[in-house]
Amino acid sequence: MFFKTSDGSFLDSNGKVLYFSTERFIRDICEGDCCFICGISRSETDFNDEHVLPKWILRKYNLYKQSITLPNETKFRYDKYVLPCCKQCNSLMGKKIEEPIRNLITQGFEAVAHHIEKKGYWLFFVWLSLIFFKTHLKGKSLRYYRDRRQEDYTLFDTYNWEELHHIHCVARSFYTGCKIDPKVMGSFLTISAKMDSTYQDFDYLDLHDSKTVLLRISDICFITVLNDSCRSLTPFKNYLERLSGEMSPLQLREVTAHLAFINLHLKERPKFFTMVDLHRKKHIMSAKCSDFVELDNYEQSEFGEILNFCCKEFLNVCNDENLEQIKEEVKQGKRTFLFDEDGNFNTNSFVPMT
Ligand SMILES: [Zn+2]
Repeated sequence: MFFKTSDGSFLDSNGKVLYFSTERFIRDICEGDCCFICGISRSETDFNDEHVLPKWILRKYNLYKQSITLPNETKFRYDKYVLPCCKQCNSLMGKKIEEPIRNLITQGFEAVAHHIEKKGYWLFFVWLSLIFFKTHLKGKSLRYYRDRRQEDYTLFDTYNWEELHHIHCVARSFYTGCKIDPKVMGSFLTISAKMDSTYQDFDYLDLHDSKTVLLRISDICFITVLNDSCRSLTPFKNYLERLSGEMSPLQLREVTAHLAFINLHLKERPKFFTMVDLHRKKHIMSAKCSDFVELDNYEQSEFGEILNFCCKEFLNVCNDENLEQIKEEVKQGKRTFLFDEDGNFNTNSFVPMT
């Protein structure tokens, strides 16, 4: 039999938290220092460090001494970027998520695509939810202003934890065994990336407000929207149908910008919920959303802001002779790296880099 606690959380007969109420999630996970998967306190078991990006990626791409850009746009070294997690959950996460992912990715794009075709993208969606969640949970222990002379508040203060509650439920579903309704799955693209010696083999970008993530490992790129119930793909369909080849790192970032922008402008947002049957010991995560997708009003410059955020890291080191014009068009949301002047897929979109 399952039990409901006074704060609205659900536990199994062994006390395992199957569902954190928002109240308990904020108290124990966000503001507290409990294991971010099972919620156990530090005083009750052994903890060890969990890297925000898996160690095998840090090793393979020599990222230990490189930095991730945080939502406050400061940089933090990947090797220092760790979260407290209990040993048991760490090892379960390795077995259920990290090892199968590593196994598929090291076999290459075809193996990943084959897995997704046969079994769906749940494994990768949960993995990206975990990375996104860890990135943003970590913010609570980092000062917003890294310069200590400035006012002291953490990144945590700038987050809306309730919005992250749903992503946390998905991220720990490998632990809870919760059934997931397909409506919970967000937009997800697996794209073959075109490699070039001027770009790194690894790219990670997340947009906090739009809950959108890009992760590129060699020639495999995943782009997902974590909280849109696949709604963002409908308005993006016209673009998607014309994207007919391997994509450059800059093009992949533009795709991320489009999905992020659409997600922010969905007129009707999906509502996520978890249903628990105490007696039958079943729980399922689901979503309510209409089939009709409509966007609210927007200015093209709003898209430009997001496109600029996604592309500026590359454009800042670009040496194209028309760079200033390109940057201005990006800011206005009028520049595309995806298509040529005739509207066909641009197969030559590598911006010259310094
Ligand atoms: Zn744990």
